[in-house]
Amino acid sequence: MIHEILAVGPLQCNCSVIGDEKTREAMVIDPGDDVEQVLDLVRKHNLQVKQIVVTHAHIDHVGGAMKLRRATGAPILLNQNDYALLKMLDVQAAWIGMPAPGNVEIDRSIGHGDSVKAGSLSADVLHTPGHTEGSICLYFAPEKKLIAGDTLFAGSIGRTDLPGGSYKKIMDSLHEQVLALPDETVVVPGHGPLTSIAKERDSNPFLVKS
Ligand SMILES: [Zn+2]
Repeated sequence: MIHEILAVGPLQCNCSVIGDEKTREAMVIDPGDDVEQVLDLVRKHNLQVKQIVVTHAHIDHVGGAMKLRRATGAPILLNQNDYALLKMLDVQAAWIGMPAPGNVEIDRSIGHGDSVKAGSLSADVLHTPGHTEGSICLYFAPEKKLIAGDTLFAGSIGRTDLPGGSYKKIMDSLHEQVLALPDETVVVPGHGPLTSIAKERDSNPFLVKS
């Protein structure tokens, strides 16, 4: 598995480029910004982007998706429960002082039980509402790797005070789905350093049982 992680944009969203070493097929997850640098990584590994997957419709995760689609021809996938948030991209841009990226068109909704593929690589889609209604995580079972979006961070969890957020839902998602994954699963959060399921289960102040 080729896996490059690039922190993009002013909020340093972790954008993942994941590619199959044999077929050179790839997916890009959360191209929030800095699409030229993302494309440099794609070219460096001689990859062909087949899917653009967005973990949720916050501007720092989806802002560069249309530019990447124009450059690669790959479809953009997002859970339909976040379509309403997509219509608020200019409001979101104003919150963080970014230029509005214009309309983002979604090619297909992905939800629980779906999988996304790049060559022989496959990730299960986990619908994990709470940070937003349409938040998803992507679990690469053979590699034991979770792309967590803004649902889980090293030592913290996603904020739930923005439109569509729910503390109860994120806690349910974390306990019922995310912490159900194997201990050794590597977690790639939407921002900040990598972690593991075991580490977060043992030390994340939002998750440890008192
Ligand atoms: Zn977010």
